[in-house]
Amino acid sequence: MDKNKFMRSVRLKESACQGCINCIKHCPTQAIRVHNGKAHIIDKFCIDCGRCIQSCPHHAKIAVYDPLSVINNFKYTVALPAPSLYAQYNNLTNVDIVLNALLRLGFDDVYEVSAAAELVSEASREYIKEHRDEAPFISSACPSVIRLIRVKFPSLISRLLPIKAPVEVAAEIARARAMEKTGLKPEEIGIIFISPCPSKVSYAKSPLGIEKSSIDNVVAIKDIYPLLLPHMRHDESQLSHLSHSGRIGIGWSSAGGESAGLFSDNYLAADGIVNILRVLEELEDEKLHGLIFVELNACDGGCVGGTLTVENAYIAATKTKRLVKYQPVSKNHLADNPELKNVYWADDVEYEPVFRLGSTFKESLKMMNDVESLTARFPGLDCGSCGAPTCQTLAEDIVRGDATPNDCIYVLRANIADLSRKIEDLTVNRKGKDSLTEEESQLLDSYIRTLTADLASFGVPSRSGKGDTE
Ligand code: SF4
Ligand code: SF4
Repeated sequence: MDKNKFMRSVRLKESACQGCINCIKHCPTQAIRVHNGKAHIIDKFCIDCGRCIQSCPHHAKIAVYDPLSVINNFKYTVALPAPSLYAQYNNLTNVDIVLNALLRLGFDDVYEVSAAAELVSEASREYIKEHRDEAPFISSACPSVIRLIRVKFPSLISRLLPIKAPVEVAAEIARARAMEKTGLKPEEIGIIFISPCPSKVSYAKSPLGIEKSSIDNVVAIKDIYPLLLPHMRHDESQLSHLSHSGRIGIGWSSAGGESAGLFSDNYLAADGIVNILRVLEELEDEKLHGLIFVELNACDGGCVGGTLTVENAYIAATKTKRLVKYQPVSKNHLADNPELKNVYWADDVEYEPVFRLGSTFKESLKMMNDVESLTARFPGLDCGSCGAPTCQTLAEDIVRGDATPNDCIYVLRANIADLSRKIEDLTVNRKGKDSLTEEESQLLDSYIRTLTADLASFGVPSRSGKGDTE
């Protein structure tokens, strides 16, 4: 697979879409258009943030992920619960209650992503210490943030911390340990991540910084959540001791959790895609000083706010704080995990110029001028009636050849008024079609054809339904 190819997990359920244009206004990368009453996601612009899932009032945007039945595809399966899974449950006092329930549900083993997060925290501390003069570094744990930087902020790519995400580290360790324990081949072991968000579903299929992910399948927290409830035993005597995570690892589920693992105050933690865009712009403009680390989570509140969770992000964050209160700071160290061959990225992450208009600088410059002139013709209301989120986006679509000026109802109305005036001039003012010269008659026919086409693009059918010019 092309390492720069990006898979997308957020999709449209066409039958549910009402064409209400709500989603186009919320997409941070302006990746959605509405045409012929249905939304359409432009693959290369989408960063899988899931914001359109949250903003669609008709539940027409969905995330695609695996069903739990994938565990039947393997001889031995290991569940990788995201730390945000624990925060979904009320009155959880012990992570082992959830981990034991996963085994009762059918998994053969569990390995906590929060344990791997503590290894990533240790590697991050070491890396930042060694490269302090290159700070600030940007967290590379959220795939939507990495994707956003790759397509919109190329100058910040070098600031990404080149360290594998905790889920990838967890998958590598879990597979190595399962092979050692069972003697099975790698392909006979299923490493199944229980995810809070669609971007991590896409990550497993097209990972960043490495050739291939060790994750086999991704299931959603919201699917697993109700299935675990009947298997949860709160009586400690019925629980095997499975958890090996400390406060740092479990705390990664909420905004600020990753930064806490760096043991430094010189960090900034932002969550929610709108805030993230602002921070990235300020970083690009070198307006943020004195920082060694910038933690960015696309979802509000961090991973606990992912669209595949069930609990309110802020309640979940409070539950996490309560859960980790009496935990030791960290229980995992790189030196104790020889199975992890390399915690760093093996591949470079590259800029993807998907928003560039032309294929050369000269061509882009010309197209930008065209966009500017076209935008000036539009009313500047950003009403969305054309199906694009803003007047400028419509102008860009036109310049790319994906739309026409008549998609703007204001331009269309002006064109129709102009044509009607010309037709009136040739007919009413000249006493009917019979008095026209041959040339005027042809002109009239062309006006009527254009008018009929314009009206059709506006949804008004011609009398014969075939664009007749009579
Ligand atoms: S918000 Fe978007 S996906 Fe949902 S119904 Fe409206 S146009 Fe369709
Ligand atoms: S997932 Fe995010 S980037 Fe993709 S279409 Fe939806 S809102 Fe836009």
